[in-house]
Amino acid sequence: MINNSPSKLYPTSLDLTNCDKEPIHIIGKIQNHGVLIACRIDDKVVSRVSENSLFIFDKSPEKILESNINQVITEDVLTDILVQFQKKTTAYKEAVINNKNVTIIAHQSNQEYILEFEINTITLDPLAYQIRLSEIVSEINSISNLEERCDQAALLIKEYFEYDRVMIYQFDDKWNGSIIAEQREQHLESWLGLQYPASDIPQQARKLFLKQGVRIINDVSSKPENILSLQKDADTNLLDLSKSELRAVSPIHIEYLSNMNVGATLTAAIVYNDTLWGLIACHHYSPKYINYYQRLSCKFLTQILATSIQLSNTDTILEKVQKSSFIRNKLIDQINVKKNIIEGLSNYDYKINDLVDATGAVVSIDNEMVTMGNCPSKENILNLIRHIRKLTNDDLYHTTNLVNDYPGSAAYKDIASGVLCLFISKTKDDALLWFKPEIIQTVHWAGNPDKRTFVDENQRISPRKSFEKWTTQQIGTSKIWRDHEISAAVELHKNILNIIIEKYEEVKNLNDKLKIAYDELESFSYSVSHDLRAPLRGIDGFAHIIKEEYYESLDDFAKSSIQTIISSVDKMNLLIDDILEYSGLGRKPMQSRTFSMIKVIEELLVTLQPIYPKVKVEPNTELPDIYGDRSIIILLIKNLLENAMKYSSKEMAPLVEIGCKDNHTYFVKDNGIGFDMKHQGKIFGVFNRLVNQEYKGSGIGLAIAKRVVEKHKGKIWVESKIGEGSIFYFKLATNEN
Ligand code: ADP
Repeated sequence: MINNSPSKLYPTSLDLTNCDKEPIHIIGKIQNHGVLIACRIDDKVVSRVSENSLFIFDKSPEKILESNINQVITEDVLTDILVQFQKKTTAYKEAVINNKNVTIIAHQSNQEYILEFEINTITLDPLAYQIRLSEIVSEINSISNLEERCDQAALLIKEYFEYDRVMIYQFDDKWNGSIIAEQREQHLESWLGLQYPASDIPQQARKLFLKQGVRIINDVSSKPENILSLQKDADTNLLDLSKSELRAVSPIHIEYLSNMNVGATLTAAIVYNDTLWGLIACHHYSPKYINYYQRLSCKFLTQILATSIQLSNTDTILEKVQKSSFIRNKLIDQINVKKNIIEGLSNYDYKINDLVDATGAVVSIDNEMVTMGNCPSKENILNLIRHIRKLTNDDLYHTTNLVNDYPGSAAYKDIASGVLCLFISKTKDDALLWFKPEIIQTVHWAGNPDKRTFVDENQRISPRKSFEKWTTQQIGTSKIWRDHEISAAVELHKNILNIIIEKYEEVKNLNDKLKIAYDELESFSYSVSHDLRAPLRGIDGFAHIIKEEYYESLDDFAKSSIQTIISSVDKMNLLIDDILEYSGLGRKPMQSRTFSMIKVIEELLVTLQPIYPKVKVEPNTELPDIYGDRSIIILLIKNLLENAMKYSSKEMAPLVEIGCKDNHTYFVKDNGIGFDMKHQGKIFGVFNRLVNQEYKGSGIGLAIAKRVVEKHKGKIWVESKIGEGSIFYFKLATNEN
């Protein structure tokens, strides 16, 4: 039974929305400039034949079907083809069939041999042909610049194959394409620079180009021929025409070409690194056939072009890598000379925006930000840095579509759709950023899109429509960040981190030295103070003996001198006590626990209240317990309480309150003399007093208090007003929940 219905898997209606799913490799039809015959590999019985068999053969398709392939081609032709198959997947052979010079192009598809027959109309002088071909190769290779090389290739291909228009079409990373070189008949309008969306050459068409290399459409307006099949199950056993020379053209593509009045095409895939770099696309405005050998030459030329493009690309990248490495070294030199990272990167001959292909750059370090070139506002940049921080834990972030990751950036997408960001610090807003503008800004549309002539009536598919689609796809998108740009930025980032680490090491060394000196000084003052106690006790003892035993026999001067000695010794003792307390704090290991504040205050008042009997002390009876080292927290409370009592003791009704507010913030409040808040920083230092001898003291009490608080990783501060009293607050980190 003969089956000639078109494939049910092939959709009946196709448009721009589903053309990327169109199964063009199982289209079930061929172009009518040749005949296709398939035979089963095992028994060589003809299994399929195109309806136009009479174009070459003298037998109808029905007659050919079910016959043996030996009845279609001679035994020796078949043998030659089968011998070729032992070495390669495609074979070709010249033959005379039905008095016609025919080229047979054969390949295997599943369990079938596919033979395609084309009439050889053009006879070529093989030697002249060969010579011209090698001339073309050397002409292409003699040019080093990529654009010029593509121009030259287009020119030579146009001369050689005589198409009306030859274009070199390059894909971008998203498979959108642009025409980068063009040669055309003078009367034709230029399409150079035109951009096309990826949907114009959908992915399955790109796959077929990769498989086949060169393909022609002989006559856009011709009717494709069905392939008749022996099998009942032809629909489920569809013939895969991926490698077919004659494969019919997708109706969408035909419509697209008809809209542009194109009559015939040749397309050759420019492939390198196994991916499609671009296409050589030739258009003719009437039907045009080029034979299999010419197509092979075109394939060969395209390979030469691909290799030379790869070489010049490698050269260009190498040049860019060398340039950015030079700039990076200069930037590092600038930083070292100026001893300042921001200035080094932004303020001299070389700037970080020279490092990559960016239109704006930012350096943000230690709350200082410098922008170069075209950048969003500093406020926007800061918000952007903080947003990126939330997006990734990595130091490196880059995008060509910022609005996607951060809709808040829509307002400045024209200048920053592409962002490359490298964080310098894990916790701060320190970062280096580069920006690329929205691509729509930089696209050059060759000619006014509104005036393009091939807008089809139903507006379904046309180059004009394509451009609109492409334009909407590009909103908010920048050019890509090339690998070498990212590497250059990452390298600079590494250099800067090294500089920061070196600087940190320097500061750390100095700090360590300072700590050692400080520790030495502290133990020195501790031992000196300690050693002073014994002689001081001697002086005090002798002074008291003289006062008690010989006082009456002394003259007035001696009497007052003895008195001075005794009170000086008192003061000295007080001072030594305080110094020992202060320096002792640094040496003691902490032993923390929870204990009662009320009890500490009661204990302290036992000694303090008799010294200042007039002062009324009112601790809040609900003071919460405190967590920390009791032996030193007692010194903190003692100093604050004693100061409050001392500096209010001369008031009419001295009052000291002790309380706690907001989650363990303790305070000691008095209604005493107070002080000018401009001294608030000074009073926590050692030996800094704002009063004279009328108030006893060493000037160390608040330094001790501060040290105790710091040992608990806490905070101490004061509010005061002259004549109105003071409130000292403290909060210990150990008490925070
Ligand atoms: P001192 O032994 O002089 O009290 P401190 O280190 O305890 O030393 O305090 C430093 C200075 O801060 C005091 O000399 C005093 O001028 C000021 N000061 C401290 N507490 C109070 C307070 N409660 N009221 C007023 N001034 C105070």
